[in-house]
Amino acid sequence: MPRTPSRRTALHGLAAAGAAVIGFDPFTRSWATTTSARPLTGLPSLDGSIHTDDASLGAAADDFGHIVHRRPVAVLRPGSVQDVVAMIRFCNTHRVEVAPRGQGHATQGQAQVDGGLVIETTPLADIGPVGPGSRTVTVGAGAKWSDVAKATIAHGLTPPTFTDYLELSVGGTVSVGGLGGQTHQQGAQVDNVTELQVVTGAGELVRCSPTRHRDLFLAVLAGLGQCAVVVGATLRLVRAPETVRHYLLPYDDLRVFLDDQRRLVEEGRFAYVEGQVVPDAGGAFRGYLLEAVAYGPPVGPAPDDARLLRGLRHDPSGVQKSDLAYYDFLDRLAPSVAALKEAGLWAYAHPWLNLLLPGRTAAAVAGAVLDDLTPEDLGPGVVLLYPLLRDRLGTPLLRMPDDPVPYLLAVLRTTPPDDTATVDRLLAANRAAYDTVHAAGGTHYPVGSVPFAPADWREHFGPAWRRLATARHTYDPRGILVPGQGIF
Ligand SMILES: Cc1cc2nc3c(=O)[nH]c(=O)nc-3n(C[C@H](O)[C@H](O)[C@H](O)COP(=O)(O)OP(=O)(O)OC[C@H]3O[C@@H](n4cnc5c(N)ncnc54)[C@H](O)[C@@H]3O)c2cc1C
Repeated sequence: MPRTPSRRTALHGLAAAGAAVIGFDPFTRSWATTTSARPLTGLPSLDGSIHTDDASLGAAADDFGHIVHRRPVAVLRPGSVQDVVAMIRFCNTHRVEVAPRGQGHATQGQAQVDGGLVIETTPLADIGPVGPGSRTVTVGAGAKWSDVAKATIAHGLTPPTFTDYLELSVGGTVSVGGLGGQTHQQGAQVDNVTELQVVTGAGELVRCSPTRHRDLFLAVLAGLGQCAVVVGATLRLVRAPETVRHYLLPYDDLRVFLDDQRRLVEEGRFAYVEGQVVPDAGGAFRGYLLEAVAYGPPVGPAPDDARLLRGLRHDPSGVQKSDLAYYDFLDRLAPSVAALKEAGLWAYAHPWLNLLLPGRTAAAVAGAVLDDLTPEDLGPGVVLLYPLLRDRLGTPLLRMPDDPVPYLLAVLRTTPPDDTATVDRLLAANRAAYDTVHAAGGTHYPVGSVPFAPADWREHFGPAWRRLATARHTYDPRGILVPGQGIF
């Protein structure tokens, strides 16, 4: 339908650069650049800036997966939390979809929005204050975990749980869960958040915690951005070790490997337990490396190999052991990531598969998924397999199998992005693996690339679905937030 002149005057300007004005037309739901010198109405006054150049839109239409590309019409680089409030109110009024983006390390377009607004959280990266006695630290949602670690370790403190890779934003991981080798003792990152500052889909700035707006707090933690944009988070701190002892223990039997991992997490013998599955000489994924880390003083006693490794059934001739400064241990992936970037492999497609298996069937289910895996379909990626403890995980929207010892199975596939037929085949394989795991009582850890329809999400959230749907209706009544997750 042709637009009338009066509708045209309803263009809302967003930012002015010289004589060019970036405007949003709520009727065509599109942004436009005009050369009108006349100031347009409805312009939120911003401390930061709106960007509509090709480079900004192109970057916002990509992520670590390099599989899905949805182009927004504008990108907000907020200069303040108030900018996020102003723009979400504006988008709410005009029913423009919005996606916050941290480090863009999702793999399936979760932080992208077709024809909407991407809010980059990177400028919201304040950390602290933090001092020697601090029990918590408040950080901006855009702060990276590497920077949070450095700032707190300087005072002998640390968040209790880290993801393997530190260059992820706090807002990005608290929106999904945040799992790592410390999770069996300390819970997920979401279990270590004491308060959040959020902007709801209706544009309200709210502080929420276990005692204040609890429904919102629990809908945002691992809530995949469906109810509010996190702008700040208060994180629990514990004492940091100065050094750690890191072990890699080889196994050649899946059941023995899983049983030893289970034993370690149930006993709490190590501060950190993870594991990898590696191909044998014939290309079958039948080699296993148990990764365990003991924290040294002042958190634990000086590591004692005999005590720490007692009773484990690994091949003793293949043990690798190293002592590391605590931060170097946390940042242990940095050299490999640098090498992957150097080789151009960071820009490959990453159709990742991240599943949570019930411990009671982990050997059979992981075995079935691994039997179908070939080195070619993994590419230069890795397979992670490690246990968690259910009773340390208390965030309702972080869906776990009903089992005291769930296992994370992550097949981190890496494949050339231009070979779309292979990417599509791997996505279908991910779905088939999910179906196998789901039938055995497992769940999807939603950071990877498993094709999911709204009905799958409803089933995924199970008893927590009502909580999420109610909170969505309450806090994002127009449903503008994070369409890239495909939940509503
Ligand atoms: C190399 C690599 C290693 C990883 N290792 C681990 C690991 O060990 N453990 C683990 O648990 N995960 C891991 N992940 C997954 C990672 O935790 C998630 O993909 C996480 O969401 C990425 O954070 P990000 O800042 O890049 O978020 P983005 O990709 O920018 O966003 C992810 C989702 O969160 C939403 N979002 C982002 N910021 C906010 C906010 N402030 N408020 C509300 N919603 C928001 C986005 O809209 C999007 O839907 C890894 C990913 C990569 C690429």
